[in-house]
Amino acid sequence: MGRYTGPVCRLCRQIGDKLFLKGDRCYAKCPLERRRRPPGMHVARRRKMSDYGLRLREKQKAKYIYGLLENQFRRYVETARRQTGETGQALLRLLERRLDNVVFRLGFADSRRQARQLVRHGHILVNGKKVDIPSYLVRVGDTITWQESSRQLPMAQAVAQNGPKREVPAWLSLEREHLTGKVLSLPQPADLDVQIDTRLIVEFYSR
Ligand code: SF4
Repeated sequence: MGRYTGPVCRLCRQIGDKLFLKGDRCYAKCPLERRRRPPGMHVARRRKMSDYGLRLREKQKAKYIYGLLENQFRRYVETARRQTGETGQALLRLLERRLDNVVFRLGFADSRRQARQLVRHGHILVNGKKVDIPSYLVRVGDTITWQESSRQLPMAQAVAQNGPKREVPAWLSLEREHLTGKVLSLPQPADLDVQIDTRLIVEFYSR
């Protein structure tokens, strides 16, 4: 199945929680605050969830937040399993290190969706080279910046003049004037901007 391109608020309604898929716009106006029932004409209200349902919901939530397809997400879980340490934390580190996520966390884009577009369209350089692969995993020491010709875009100018709209996590740093971010360390669970219970996700794939 291809990537979901419909209204993103529908995904939040399906999960029953705010996933902030429109980024900063979610703070201004959110339909979920008025209507919490799941999408669909005949769905009256949520039933109590089974253990399986809870794990499935957590997995779907993470997939929607990072904008991933099922196969991509499964591959991240498998890679995390092969790494040393706790699988859930390894999974979060992989998801957070995606270039589209880093562009969003640096405040270069209003949402992860928009960040993916910026990367795909070749506006972003990693260590001075164009990288147009949203799933590219950044490493400690990498610098992330705008392509010279893209620095006049309103999004880049807004950051240069006013700084990022969101707090930049501790594992990244931003030189606002130079529109350049740097990876200082690997992300930790406390650095997340969303609540995800990775234990439930790992359990979902351990069935
Ligand atoms: Fe829509 Fe954002 Fe609210 Fe989700 S959190 S329902 S994406 S406005």
